[in-house]
Amino acid sequence: MFENVKEIPGDALLALMVAFKNDPNPNKIDLGVGVYKDDTGLTPVLNVVKKAEAFLLENEVSKGYIGATGSPELGPLLQKLMLGDNHPLITESRIATAQTPGGTGALRVAGDLINAVNPAARIWVSDPTWSNHFHVFAGAGVEVRTYPYYDADQNGLAIDAMLEAIRQIPQGDVILLHASCHNPTGIDPTAEQWDQISTLVAERSLVPLIDCAYQGFGEGLEEDVYGLRTLLSQCPEALITTSCSKNFGLYNERIGALSLVTEKAEHCQRAFTQVANCIRANYSNPPAHGAAIVTTILSDHALRQQWEQELADMRQRIQRMRNELVSSLQSLNCNRDFTFIAQQKGMFSYSGLSKEEVLYLRAHFGIYAVESGRINIAGINDQNIGLLSEAIHQAIQ
Ligand code: PLP
Repeated sequence: MFENVKEIPGDALLALMVAFKNDPNPNKIDLGVGVYKDDTGLTPVLNVVKKAEAFLLENEVSKGYIGATGSPELGPLLQKLMLGDNHPLITESRIATAQTPGGTGALRVAGDLINAVNPAARIWVSDPTWSNHFHVFAGAGVEVRTYPYYDADQNGLAIDAMLEAIRQIPQGDVILLHASCHNPTGIDPTAEQWDQISTLVAERSLVPLIDCAYQGFGEGLEEDVYGLRTLLSQCPEALITTSCSKNFGLYNERIGALSLVTEKAEHCQRAFTQVANCIRANYSNPPAHGAAIVTTILSDHALRQQWEQELADMRQRIQRMRNELVSSLQSLNCNRDFTFIAQQKGMFSYSGLSKEEVLYLRAHFGIYAVESGRINIAGINDQNIGLLSEAIHQAIQ
């Protein structure tokens, strides 16, 4: 069976991680991998997570299976986090949520669901998007197409081209939109642009698939779901994939969710049986621990407040590093304007650095970024920002 199997090239980001690990340079800087790091370069376990785990250690009574759609408490808590209390979708029972292994698991179940209920539908993703979107949907057998998103000349959103492309998408197709902190560009639509996008998506009868992987990492828990709420106020049907990897720092616990929004409550109940079926056929049921941590935190007032504070600390550190990188480059009298970096949201920035410049940084300074020029702002800290700015200054000469 395996004698003539073709080797598949490994993931470029994983290769970058290995190259970084093997680099003996004591001043090397990792701006590649998409995880939060604190000012000492560590991806910490949040203190509130430690508290929730201590509570669970004392109080958990069983490791029995949880059903295919996971923890029954998690769904309502995540719905409220995204939509706010007493949202009509909740009170009218037009939303149902299944726990999944991470945001990636949610995207895969969404792909399987689309394939099961409307095999002709395509998924339209932004150009560029998180590269795994292509793999995940291809794995689910759903055709993926792209719409324009990034305006390289302005380092901004190509809103006119994006709206024009949405006008051409066939009715009934699915359009994936990043709720906030767009990966890889860091460029989010403004409130006014979200209004335009939502009106058009609804007019075209498209089904939005809202990828909500960074709630709280951009401007705040409420601010980061403006687009999501606007889309849901206009579109009768939608899919939402949630990741708790970043905002709870629970990367390796694999905790996320898929929410289904339907026009009527009875559609929701019926369609949710398809979600359960996709999950059963795939991994039977999700792991329990991450969901137990998130439900413990979100259902306790003090823990929730502590979580919001720790999340704010992560968000503010990223924003501070954005601002300091811009002023540090300005103080070196760089021949390029990088002020757009301070306007971008979340962990990532399309820095505008070319592939050659990225490779120069790697070869001469041990600074590792993705060849597209995407940098993880959370990889910058007070110790390495001076070296990084100097290196960028040299790379763009
Ligand atoms: N969606 C986007 C846009 C992401 O950037 C990521 C992770 O990087 C995910 C989904 C998946 O996150 P998870 O680690 O929870 O699977």
